[in-house]
Amino acid sequence: MPSADKLPSEKLMLQLSLRRRGISDRAVLRAMEEVPRDLFVETPDRDSAWCDTALGIACGQTISQPFVVAYMTEQLQLGSKHRVLELGTGSGYQAAILSRLCGSVLSVERFRTLADRARQRLEQIECHNVEVMLADGLNLPDNIRPFDRIIVTAAMREIPASLTDRLEDDGILVAPVGPPDGRQTLVRVQRTAEGIVRRELVDVRFVPALPGLAREM
Ligand code: SAH
Repeated sequence: MPSADKLPSEKLMLQLSLRRRGISDRAVLRAMEEVPRDLFVETPDRDSAWCDTALGIACGQTISQPFVVAYMTEQLQLGSKHRVLELGTGSGYQAAILSRLCGSVLSVERFRTLADRARQRLEQIECHNVEVMLADGLNLPDNIRPFDRIIVTAAMREIPASLTDRLEDDGILVAPVGPPDGRQTLVRVQRTAEGIVRRELVDVRFVPALPGLAREM
């Protein structure tokens, strides 16, 4: 791993910043420290890899801000046996963080280029419990089993029933909800015996979730 052998000051600064902003789950903090974000950003951005900012990646998409990755991960309350669905692989960074904290991850992406590159990176850092699939996360095949946790990393106007229906009992889903250019709020949904419990968390900014596979690759 490119940066595992040393703890550069930017890496330390990021840990402090995450703690200051309220991330307290030790396992999440450790994953954020151990996964080499520099591997997941574009080469010209390597120097900014440990800054707490979103960065552009291929296909006009973005790798999320580390705080948002940590916060969403913490909200999922992951267990070591959980089966997790990620909608929006992008760089693969969020999937790598999840992979350290759960049983397995199915991450779906609509751009072939992004899915292929993410798969390579995840192999490189030996995340063997992540499967990257080229697919429209809004229209997944019926034969996929339900998930304990679902994380959506692209903004949707509303959370479709097709996704909440894929949650196991007591399952948790987090997703940015709102219009592409307007106010988006992170929403946490839990499927309970009494029904769906929905809670609004913090305002966020994500690229939109779009239907279908991308035509440009
Ligand atoms: N989690 C990523 C960042 C995701 S950016 C990371 O850690 O880098 C959002 C991603 O969602 C983009 O790559 C976009 O192409 C993808 N996306 C948008 N709509 C989608 C859909 N319907 N199905 C699958 N992926 C989708």
